Amino acid sequence: MLDYPFGRQLPEPGKLLEVASGIYWLRMPLPMALDHINLYLLEDSDGWWVVDTGMSLQPTQELWQEIFANQLQDKPIKAVVCTHWHPDHTGNAGWLCERWNAPLYISRTEYLTGMFYTRSDPEDLSAASEQHQLRLGRRGEDIHAFRKTMGGLRDMVSPLPGSYRRLVDGAVLSINGQRWRVVIGRGHSPEHACLFSDSLNVLISGDQVIPRISSNIAVGPEEPEANPLREWLQSLEHFLDVLPADALVLPAHNVPFTGLHHRLRHLIEHHEDGLLSLEEACVDQPRAALELLPALFQRELNEEQVNMALGECLAHLNYLVQRGQVARHSDEAGVYRYRSVDDTLPLRLRQRKTPRDGRQPLQV
Ligand SMILES: [Zn+2]
Repeated sequence: MLDYPFGRQLPEPGKLLEVASGIYWLRMPLPMALDHINLYLLEDSDGWWVVDTGMSLQPTQELWQEIFANQLQDKPIKAVVCTHWHPDHTGNAGWLCERWNAPLYISRTEYLTGMFYTRSDPEDLSAASEQHQLRLGRRGEDIHAFRKTMGGLRDMVSPLPGSYRRLVDGAVLSINGQRWRVVIGRGHSPEHACLFSDSLNVLISGDQVIPRISSNIAVGPEEPEANPLREWLQSLEHFLDVLPADALVLPAHNVPFTGLHHRLRHLIEHHEDGLLSLEEACVDQPRAALELLPALFQRELNEEQVNMALGECLAHLNYLVQRGQVARHSDEAGVYRYRSVDDTLPLRLRQRKTPRDGRQPLQV
């Protein structure tokens, strides 16, 4: 089971909460259903390491200013680490690096992906995006409505620094005499860096392992044949192999917890259950991804959620297609239709371990 060692305690806005020796938790607001992100400050002898930065929005920068003024004990911020490129993680990286003349630590793929999405025009991607949505079963007017909501990443991310220090799997950062090993995970984002300290038995897990909510695993228009769910499941297995069951986990959303292996196994089962539900839903006739959403998400989805859900549904379908369990063909309108073709499905459905639980809420 999972344990939450800090109970209901949360860091107050603009304040730090010590969660392990020299490790401080802070929270920043996010303007969406998932209304916060957790950041961590690691104290070093000559300054602070920041892990993740919040979105580049005025309330967040005001809270950062409060922290600069009241919490840093006259030591500078000496380094900024981003677990991955998503705007809630890299939003203030450029601003912090410039303000403190500090280097940015991030993996190469995350840096380049972040540079691409924050500096390209949504129009550059619109043709691929339209074709992608049509294949998923969206109609013209919905695609048009969706296009209006696209873009805006530039408003959430201050320009990333022009250079970075590369994090690779197995690299070690020395912070306050403690060794922090980089452990790379994939699937939610392309090369997501977690940090693990053996001596402290603490994992800073970013979006790779979160309690209570599952991370979004999605296929987007830029790489429609991608198979991020395979990478995600492989990463969770890898984490089971290389990380201890009893580590204190400091996630980017929700609250710190222990019970890492339990959580990793639950996440694997959660996706396996989703895969089985999708296979079951396209036994009788070929279906489009849009029609398959209720198999994966048993609740009403708003417009924004439909897109995230479609990305997640396609990640599951690509996984099944690439494993030969589901066949795909394109109908006369250009919509991809999926059909179960695995003879072992009836047996696997009978052996299904858990009855359907409600799917977990999505996360950015
Ligand atoms: Zn993320």
